[in-house]
Amino acid sequence: MTTPAPLNLFNSLTRALEPFTPVHPGEARVYTCGPTVYNYPHIGNMRAYVFADILGRTLTYNGYRLTHIINITDVGHLTDDADAGEDKLEQAAAAAARSIWDIAQHYTEAFWADIAALNIRPPAEWSIASAFVPQMIAAAEQIAAQHCYELPGGLYFDTGTVADYGRLARAATDEGEGRIEAVEGKRHPADFAIWRRTPPGETRQMEWDSPWGRGAPGWHLECSVMSAALLGLPFDIHTGGIDHREIHHPNEIAQNQALQGFDHTHGGLDCAQHSGAKLWMHNNFLVARAEEGRSGKMSKSSGEFLRLQLLIDRGYHPMAYRMLCLQAHYRSELEFSWEGLGAALTRLKRLVMAVEKLKLGLGGRDIEAFTVALPPQPPMSAAYFHTFQQAIADDLNTALALTVVEQVIANFGNIGIGESMQLSLLATMDSVLGLNLLALTRADLRLRPKSAAITEAEIEATLAQRKEARAARDFAKSDALRAHLTAQGVEVMDGDPLGWDWKLS
Ligand code: AMP
Ligand code: ZN
Repeated sequence: MTTPAPLNLFNSLTRALEPFTPVHPGEARVYTCGPTVYNYPHIGNMRAYVFADILGRTLTYNGYRLTHIINITDVGHLTDDADAGEDKLEQAAAAAARSIWDIAQHYTEAFWADIAALNIRPPAEWSIASAFVPQMIAAAEQIAAQHCYELPGGLYFDTGTVADYGRLARAATDEGEGRIEAVEGKRHPADFAIWRRTPPGETRQMEWDSPWGRGAPGWHLECSVMSAALLGLPFDIHTGGIDHREIHHPNEIAQNQALQGFDHTHGGLDCAQHSGAKLWMHNNFLVARAEEGRSGKMSKSSGEFLRLQLLIDRGYHPMAYRMLCLQAHYRSELEFSWEGLGAALTRLKRLVMAVEKLKLGLGGRDIEAFTVALPPQPPMSAAYFHTFQQAIADDLNTALALTVVEQVIANFGNIGIGESMQLSLLATMDSVLGLNLLALTRADLRLRPKSAAITEAEIEATLAQRKEARAARDFAKSDALRAHLTAQGVEVMDGDPLGWDWKLS
């Protein structure tokens, strides 16, 4: 097997491509900001985890021992990222008249279902924020004297006590800070609460005793503390959606500097390790196609968003959405449309059909045997393989890597390798892309929309009768059966080149 190409990844902190060099030789430690579980995740959120999954798979493929942590935020995230408003979970629980624990459990499970449906590999640990509160209090105590001050609202981090605050956001301008709501007594507009004291006379469902009174941790503190506790500071890569580049991650970085004992005298963020992670990586947004009076980023708080389950209910296999994500570079904005999703499904179907053909040729041999260890290959397949690796190593260019997979399939006849090696080649490439090509079948991809009353068995039985009628040249009956299916929303696709005999419209 050829040695994987060295990885070049885009670091948001320097806004440049940088070679990946691990903090601990042979290892890759990655932290991904998880969802705030006050509502269902939307498909935009899931783009962030597809991206993190591709990154993790690539690191594993390149031979690094991966430790990936994704957190679950069940406390601390306010309705405004910039430290204003109410706790999102407290608010959701009050609105539903349920406990926060119920709410958090329900939406965490919904998130995990989406993770599984998109073939995203689970991390080494799902760290639950509310389980780390003692460590958060200890961390706040550690940095309080040098970096924090108290206000009636709680303990605030003084962003003036660390060097290069806000560099990640490139936000050291009045414009950037103007977005942050003023709290009386703050030393700098960007200062933020790391402990939020419960106001007198109120009780929160989630609150803990601390040296600064009963209250709850700040959202930014959670991620600094969980990443430090589970990966150690500094670690290799921190990921999240591009919105986190503005407030959440600059604040994590400031806390990480403080937790590692770096103040002005130690220099700033020109030293990669000082920020707590060597690389900060961000996926761009999934945006809804602009419509009259509505456009832009999909967001949970706007209340109107697309869930993966809605795609499934409409008859799109969830892996079509993964394909849609992989077709774009993670740093580009991606526009969602139903036509685009349909095209991604067709593309996935072609790949699955090619793999099915190879599997048939191998006469049912156990496909589990096709692991990622490839035997030495003839030059032609090695060349394709090399191009694939180069694409992925170039800041995870999955769009290009996908076209290489398709070229390989189109040229199998000329490559000069047998079916089992062809399958191994595809399995290896898919270990990075995660489209589950060796396990998915054509039948899996054809989902019945939820609104359809007719069952697959009825459709297949009617189609079989129609075939008999046509064989007996009883075209009146054949047409009647077709009309019967059409009336129930089933489009019969005679002679479809992809072998898709029918679809529900
Ligand atoms: P949240 O649950 O709001 O904390 O978001 C979970 C993850 O989804 C974060 O990494 C966000 O940055 C990311 N995210 C939120 N909206 C979008 C979107 N429209 N497209 C891509 N990623 C998003
Ligand atoms: Zn975070």
